[in-house]
Amino acid sequence: MLHRGFFAAACGAVALALAGCGSTRDHALISGHACLGRLSDHDIAYRSIDINDPSDSHCHIDTAVRVSRVHAALNRPATMSCALADRLDEFEREVVQPLAIEELGRRATRIDHLGSYSCRRQNSQLGGRWSQHARGQAIDIAGFRLSDGTTVSIERDWQEPGPKRQFLRHLARQACRYFSVVLTPDSNAEHHNHMHFDIGPDRLCST
Ligand SMILES: [Zn+2]
Repeated sequence: MLHRGFFAAACGAVALALAGCGSTRDHALISGHACLGRLSDHDIAYRSIDINDPSDSHCHIDTAVRVSRVHAALNRPATMSCALADRLDEFEREVVQPLAIEELGRRATRIDHLGSYSCRRQNSQLGGRWSQHARGQAIDIAGFRLSDGTTVSIERDWQEPGPKRQFLRHLARQACRYFSVVLTPDSNAEHHNHMHFDIGPDRLCST
């Protein structure tokens, strides 16, 4: 749920103050068979789907997939672009799991999300810019379940002092190397209960 006005102001005005603004590592976005092959190679549970409505060009997904598990399961299957699934996989392997073990002593077994693909404008406002969710290029992450059954919740643990807070803050900071836009509860009130990650053309690391 990305507010583009906020983005423009924040990235333009305080780019220098935001550690990762514009510094996403240079990933190439892949699509088509090359991308699907990569998901299969990495043992991601997904199926290809066709959700594209030719009458609505704003809501086209390049190589749409429905993902039920990256390595950790998703709390419910999510529709997204193959490129986003690939990026999420990389982020989970390289950041989420190592950080969870290092800081919380356990693996993450479930990723709790609030939604990925959604054919809508930003913050569902009439006349606003189209959201990256409309292209399946964004996902809203609400938390994680760990191997001992405990949970990490952005709504509960982002502010609460302790190891879970540290885990979430470090995770958000590192997410800026994988996603072009990262929004957190510190960004605005709309993100009080989730982190927004997208791989769209804008750049903002608001952690
Ligand atoms: Zn979002």
